Amino acid sequence: MNEITQFTTRHPFLDGKPKRMLVDGKWLEAASGKTFQTINPSTGEVLAEVAEGDAEDIDRAVAAARRAFTGPWSKFKPFERQNLLLKLAELVEKHFEELAALDTLDMGAPISRTVGNKLRALGMLRYYAGQAVSIHGETIENSLPGEYASFTLKEPVGVVGAIIPWNGPLTATIWKIGPALATGCTVVLKPAEEAPLTPLRLAELCQEAGVPPGVVNVVPGYGETAGAALANHRDVDKVAFTGSHLTGQKIIQASAGNLKRVSLELGGKSPDVVFADADLDAAVPGAGMAVFANSGQICSAGTRLFVERKIYQEFSQRVADYGKSLKVGNSSDPATQVGPLVSTEQLDRVTGYLAIGRQEGARPLSGGERLTEGDMAKGFFVPPTVFADVKDEMRIAQEEIFGPVISAIPFDDIEEVIARANATQFGLGSGLWTRDVTKAHKLARAIRAGSVWINCYQAMDPAVPFGGYKMSGYGRESGKQHVEEYLNVKSVWIRTA
Ligand code: ADP
Repeated sequence: MNEITQFTTRHPFLDGKPKRMLVDGKWLEAASGKTFQTINPSTGEVLAEVAEGDAEDIDRAVAAARRAFTGPWSKFKPFERQNLLLKLAELVEKHFEELAALDTLDMGAPISRTVGNKLRALGMLRYYAGQAVSIHGETIENSLPGEYASFTLKEPVGVVGAIIPWNGPLTATIWKIGPALATGCTVVLKPAEEAPLTPLRLAELCQEAGVPPGVVNVVPGYGETAGAALANHRDVDKVAFTGSHLTGQKIIQASAGNLKRVSLELGGKSPDVVFADADLDAAVPGAGMAVFANSGQICSAGTRLFVERKIYQEFSQRVADYGKSLKVGNSSDPATQVGPLVSTEQLDRVTGYLAIGRQEGARPLSGGERLTEGDMAKGFFVPPTVFADVKDEMRIAQEEIFGPVISAIPFDDIEEVIARANATQFGLGSGLWTRDVTKAHKLARAIRAGSVWINCYQAMDPAVPFGGYKMSGYGRESGKQHVEEYLNVKSVWIRTA
C-alpha cells in the first residue's frame, strides 16, 4: 500500500474524536454543543462528527478576529507576515499528501487530482508571501495652490468573513486566508458543511506556523445559520464568498446592514467553442476534462460545448467516447479519474437534470444515468455524460448543473457563436479551440467572461486574476487585484508651506 492509500483508508486526522472549531487560538465545541456529520461520498460512510457553529459561535469568532486585528497582529511588519506565509507553505508542503487525502475523502475528488494540486496550493501561498512585501501606496502630485504633499496608504480592510464551497476545500481556504495574511486582515472562515475537514486541518497548520490567536478562526456549520450570521455581522468589514449565485444574492442583501465590502465568485454556464480547424486530438480530451474533471463540480466548467456543424456529430461522439474511457470509482483509488458527486443533494440535482435533458429531447451519447453497480451503489456516482441535439433554450443549456454533463450544441459561423456563447446570465470561464489566430483573437475579445482559455481549459496560476462577469460575480481572486480587494486606500495630505 502506498502512502496515499494508507492515508485515505486510515487518515491520521480521523481519530474518531469530534472535530472542534478554532476561535481565538482555542479549539472549542459549539456553544450549543451540537455537531453534524461529514461523510465520504465514495462510500456513504461517516468520516467525523464536527462542531456545528451558529450565530453565537460566529459572534465569538468575530469578536476574537476584531481583537486580533487591533492587537499585536497590527504591528507585524510586512516581512513578518511574509515569513508566516512561507512557514505555512513549508508546513503545507510537508503535510501535503495528508491534506490531499482529506480533500479526497471529504468531498470525493480523485486522489490523482487532489495530489496534483500541490504546485498550485504551494504556489498560491508563496505568491501571497511575495505580495505581503509588495503593498504600497502612491505619491501623487496635486494642483492645489499653496504647498501640499499628497500620498496614499494601503491599509487592511479589517475582519474578513470568508465563506467557501466544498468543491476544492484546500485551495478555497488558501484563496481566502492567503490574501488576508498578506495584507494584515483577520479572518473568520466558514467552510462548507459538506467538506469542513481540510479547512480545520489547515487551521492547525496555521497555528503551528505561528499565526497569532484570533487572526485565523474557522467555524464550521450550515449556510443558513453560521454562514448567514457571518454575512450579516455588523463587525465584519468584508465578505469574500465563493458559491452559488443564489447564495451570492443573499450575501449582498445581508451585507447591506453595515455596507460591508463583498467579493463574489459564483457559478457559471461557460461556453467552450470548437472550430473545425482545431487540433481535434487535443480538443477531445480538453473539452472532455473541461467538464468531467472533479465530476463537473467546478464553477468554470465548460458545459456548453459549441461545435462547428461540419464536425458536430463526429466530435461530440469522440468526446462521449473519451468520457466512457475514463475510470469512474472510489476517489481514494489512485487509478480513478472521475469520483463521486459530493452529496445526495448533488446526486438528486444532477440526476434531475439528466431526466430533464431527456424530456427536453436531448440525446445522451454517453452516461445519462446514475451508476449503481456493486460498491457504486453506496456512493453518489454519475458517469461522464454528453448530451447531443441540445438547443440553446433547453434548461440543460441554460442552468448550472454542477455535474459531469456536457451539452453539445452545433453552430455555423463565428458571429453566430459569439452571440450564442454570450446568451447566458453567467460569465465566468470560456474556451475556444482553433488554429486560426484571427478567430482566436476575435473571440477572446468578444466573449463576456472573466477568463478565456484558447486551446486549453482551466489553466490557473496564482499571479493571473480569476473571476466573473455578469451573474458570475465580481472581484478577482489571484493576481495583484486579489490583494487589493483586502486593502483600503487612505489619502494623506500634508500642508508643507
Ligand atoms: P453550493 O450549492 O455549491 O453548495 P452554496 O452557495 O449553497 O453553494 O454554498 C456555498 C457556501 O455558502 C457554503 O459554505 C454554504 O454553507 C454557504 N451558504 C449557503 N447559504 C448561505 C446563506 N444564506 N448565507 C451565507 N452562507 C451561505
